[in-house]
Amino acid sequence: MMGKHNDSIGCVVSECRFHAKAEDYCTLEKIQVTKHESLAKTKQCTDCGSFEKE
Ligand code: SF4
Repeated sequence: MMGKHNDSIGCVVSECRFHAKAEDYCTLEKIQVTKHESLAKTKQCTDCGSFEKE
């Protein structure tokens, strides 16, 4: 993925095709944060819904 990263979206998921690689940032302009529990009680209940495998 080429191009400038988004300073507002830090991310360490380097396995994602949108990760900036050289730095721990996302390259998308916008991401969707999701949850996989009906009621999120901890941050472990949330996910990046924009993740795509490389
Ligand atoms: S889409 Fe989500 S998981 Fe992928 S680099 Fe961006 S913030 Fe990280």
